[in-house]
Amino acid sequence: MEKKRTLEEINSKIKEGNANILTVQELIDKLEDGENIGFEDVDVITTATKALMSGIAGIFSFRLFPPKEVRKFIEVSINGIPGFPGPCPNEFLGIIDLILYGTAKSETRKNYSGGMLFRDLVEGKQVNIRAKSVEGIEIEKTLTLKDFQFARLMGTRQAIRNYFAMVNPTENVVETIFSALPLKGNFSQLTFSGCGAMNPFQNDPDADVMGIGTKILVNGQIGYIMGPGTRNDRLKPNLQTICDMKGMDPEFMGSFKTSYGPESICSIAVPLPVLNEKIWNNIIKSDNDVPLTILNVVGRFRVGEITYGDVWDNNFVVKFYPDKCIDCDECPVDGKCPTDAFDLEKGIDRNRCFNCGTCYIVCPEEAFDIDLKSINVKLEGMKERKEIPVVLRQSDRNGAIKLAERLKKMILKGEFSLQKPTGELEFAPKVK
Ligand code: SF4
Ligand code: SF4
Repeated sequence: MEKKRTLEEINSKIKEGNANILTVQELIDKLEDGENIGFEDVDVITTATKALMSGIAGIFSFRLFPPKEVRKFIEVSINGIPGFPGPCPNEFLGIIDLILYGTAKSETRKNYSGGMLFRDLVEGKQVNIRAKSVEGIEIEKTLTLKDFQFARLMGTRQAIRNYFAMVNPTENVVETIFSALPLKGNFSQLTFSGCGAMNPFQNDPDADVMGIGTKILVNGQIGYIMGPGTRNDRLKPNLQTICDMKGMDPEFMGSFKTSYGPESICSIAVPLPVLNEKIWNNIIKSDNDVPLTILNVVGRFRVGEITYGDVWDNNFVVKFYPDKCIDCDECPVDGKCPTDAFDLEKGIDRNRCFNCGTCYIVCPEEAFDIDLKSINVKLEGMKERKEIPVVLRQSDRNGAIKLAERLKKMILKGEFSLQKPTGELEFAPKVK
């Protein structure tokens, strides 16, 4: 007989303090240790991903002027990043509604983007607002997130069911959003994205549990799934989400400098009640069961396939050994860390570090340590097998584990309730 349990049964167990909740990583570790663990031992699993997510935008509303004095604002920027006023004109209210993209760049601050602005706001920093009204009145204001009447983060395409690895088969270096330093040619380097077995869709590929209205964590704050995101299909499902920025934890968000411009960092955690054996059979899959397709970074076509087990293997955290640092004249890590997490005086700021591995690659000494792995493959276009080193991780598995742990604790403490979704996530057929 098929093993089943209901959400009501799980919620009663949570209330009584008897629920068994594990993060995906805890389940993987237990299974790898040979623990005899089955369907009856796990009520809820917490999944998560922390990655570069281009599709995020801030939706804001705040007062700029007393009522009745200007008709409406038509040009508005925050810290030099232009936003899109509206859609509501708020005529004669002195209030602006504004949408601002995470990938938008500042016109006044070098290397500053929407992702950094969202993090600065969540950290409580003051931001500079410049606005022009339809009558030509120009104003400048300094506000903090507390002054915003409304500040939500909307994700148009998030938590994609894992992603790709990239190689550069050409003879020239390529500047791309898939590398922190220009990607060297002749199949000599590999970068990848995706949290592998931790990813929400990896554990619920047909969205049997997740649905419209499912409560999730976005950057540590409670948010909701609105529906499938843009460019979704059955093989590469993703989410559209919404979440209040007030209450987010900056550790899980920010910006990542790629060699082709800034990208936004965002983290999503989704609880999956283990309702039946189909769900159980998905959640017990390890990184070795999750395929990782390798693409040619120029043109993005497939050249081969490995698994996430080839790149993730308890190698999640980058370490810094100050005693091995020789204090180079100009520390290359200082300027090249994609999240500005490294400072020669203070070391790694763990609150900002993405565990991407760039410091390990650019430091000429052994001041940093991480097993970034290399893969031994023969890809399409290669004459023979070769060892290709991983030079960058564009997903932070350690951050995903931390968010999944936070969600687990919140459920156990009764701070996060599990509810049935209000509708199903319906994905499009394969997008061409
Ligand atoms: S590159 Fe490495 S060894 Fe040189 S100053 Fe930076 S951390 Fe130290
Ligand atoms: S791993 Fe190194 S380069 Fe990457 S974010 Fe952390 S400190 Fe910066």
